[in-house]
Amino acid sequence: MKYLFGPVYSRRLGHSLGIDLLPPKICTLNCIYCEVGVTTDLTCERKEYVPTEDILREIDEVLATGTVGRPIDVFTLTAMGEPTLHTGIGTIIAHLKARTDKPVAVLTNGTLFFDPQVRADLAGADIVIPSLDAARQESFERVNQPASSVNLEQVIEGLALFSHEFRGEVWLEILLVREINDSFEDLTALQQAVRKINPARIQLNTVARPPMDGRARPVTREKMEQAAAMLADGYAGRVEILVDFQAIEKKREGRGQQLREKLVEEIAAMLQRRPCPLAEIDRALHVQDLELTEECVRVLVDAGRIEKIVHADKEFYQHVAVCREH
Ligand code: SF4
Repeated sequence: MKYLFGPVYSRRLGHSLGIDLLPPKICTLNCIYCEVGVTTDLTCERKEYVPTEDILREIDEVLATGTVGRPIDVFTLTAMGEPTLHTGIGTIIAHLKARTDKPVAVLTNGTLFFDPQVRADLAGADIVIPSLDAARQESFERVNQPASSVNLEQVIEGLALFSHEFRGEVWLEILLVREINDSFEDLTALQQAVRKINPARIQLNTVARPPMDGRARPVTREKMEQAAAMLADGYAGRVEILVDFQAIEKKREGRGQQLREKLVEEIAAMLQRRPCPLAEIDRALHVQDLELTEECVRVLVDAGRIEKIVHADKEFYQHVAVCREH
């Protein structure tokens, strides 16, 4: 199957048969936490990126032959990019609804909901799960790196319009990234946006898988609980935390002490050649975990082997042996 995958089990949807509407990676955003990688086609242009007919044929094959061989609770329209960019999405939803009694869900970044045609296309779905990670322009740009024509006010307006028109359920997902979109001001702005949108559920998430940009770090459990408490004001019982902090902690522990020791020495060797900012160390050594890199850098600082310097308003780390030579 080219466009259908799974079913995969998801805590929120059950056994979900995914339908992938776009080739990677066409999106209206280039989120720093994206697991798919850098957006190669950053666009708001809607078109039939892959033939709708081919997708419908695959759906019919699965329904006729039951080839997946496992139970399906829900059909989920998604993409390694933004699925509402595909102009056939309304036809695909209608096709599924005509041939199955299973619910149809759509995972989307919600940036195109200001377009009445997109809202009409999604009207036949049962559950729409849009995301909104920031309601302040500065944070929106930092976390989502939007295409130039994406306007944050318009995005929030579109989400609110859709949520009020839609007969199914809107579950709004908010992904918080440490020191990027998790400040008190960010949470207050999100709280106001949530009030306008009035979703059936608010689902909080953080970076749990390797992101495309090493700056994307998970928020702490305490921060997540603070955000949940703020957003629950007036929405009691509708806010849920999706992330499993225990699993994240276990994974980090699983990386093992040996790996840490090796990384400490690699950082020391790298800084012996030239001073570097933290993010560059993380990138150059392919760690993709700024928190782990910072931890290892701290080991070297505490041992007096490297030190932090500021040059042209930028923080660098340099090897102590190097700075003594200069
Ligand atoms: S909206 Fe989704 S697919 Fe697009 S960049 Fe963000 S996380 Fe990746």
